[in-house]
Amino acid sequence: MQGPWEERDGVLRYRTKSGVEIYRLPIRLFPELDGYVYLILADDHRILVDAGSGLPESLEDLRRGFEILRARYGCQVDLHQLTAILITHGHIDHFGGLASIRQQSPAPVFVHELDRRVLVNYSERLITVAQEIRYFLNQAGVSPERQSALLNLYLSMKALFQSTPVEGLLTDGEMLFGILRVHHTPGHCPGQVCLQIDEVLLTSDHILAHTTPHQAPERITRYTGLGHYLESLRRVAAIPDIALAFGGHEDPILNPYERIAAIEAFHHQRLERVLEICKEPRTIAEVSKALFGRQYGYGVLLALLEAGAHVEYLYDRGYLQVANLDQLENEPGTPIRYRRL
Ligand SMILES: [Zn+2]
Ligand SMILES: [Zn+2]
Repeated sequence: MQGPWEERDGVLRYRTKSGVEIYRLPIRLFPELDGYVYLILADDHRILVDAGSGLPESLEDLRRGFEILRARYGCQVDLHQLTAILITHGHIDHFGGLASIRQQSPAPVFVHELDRRVLVNYSERLITVAQEIRYFLNQAGVSPERQSALLNLYLSMKALFQSTPVEGLLTDGEMLFGILRVHHTPGHCPGQVCLQIDEVLLTSDHILAHTTPHQAPERITRYTGLGHYLESLRRVAAIPDIALAFGGHEDPILNPYERIAAIEAFHHQRLERVLEICKEPRTIAEVSKALFGRQYGYGVLLALLEAGAHVEYLYDRGYLQVANLDQLENEPGTPIRYRRL
């Protein structure tokens, strides 16, 4: 993709209007997921944004990215010289590499307070959320065997990360190091932040060039959910003069305001579709099947959560009603069926 940046050996450099240098390093994250970490250089600051997944190939790509910075851009920079590590949100593909990076870097780690617990007590986060997910799956009409399989898959991530301390917080509206403006944009994740450097916005997983970022119901994790997400899109749309956005995955975004409008339109269409599906009473599992067809592995859980986020949004705002109230009253734990009002 061509744009107002240069690219050498896959590492992209963009210089903002005040002269801050942003480097984008490509990183393999999981077998079917690629993304980026960013290095920001200004004055004496050497700031790493995100840490990759921590899998061997992810750490290897990070090491190689720094090698390219030195060999092809002449930046004499290495992990042990970092001045700060910022984590854009508490998803493993963005912070999983922290424990390894910290073995080489004494730099303080910053994250939004709503995602701090994920980093400092990862097991607690997984185990408590697993309980909420089980409750959700049960009400969604997923069979007990399938619930257990999905939860085992979810909990298998426990082995991927060792908790790590957090030294600093990313606070909404704050100007960090005189370089970065922090924008809290909850929805995709409670502590999701976008980081603004002059005319550039690092959007992480809040806004991506091609995919509409994944949503989950806020009944599972507070500050997520489609309502918060759409509000956060509006927040970013109200930031003036963003010329370019770089996401945590996928291509740079040359028209960020248009991209926001497209994502909003996409969700409104999906909400319409859910209302259509719920002309007849439907469980969330049935809505998921109608929206996404048959899914496999972790995709099953992602599809159910995405469907659940849309059903929740509509139900909370009075567009859906519970169709099987009597059954719910007499048989606790029975799946909920939603019908369009
Ligand atoms: Zn994410
Ligand atoms: Zn991500």
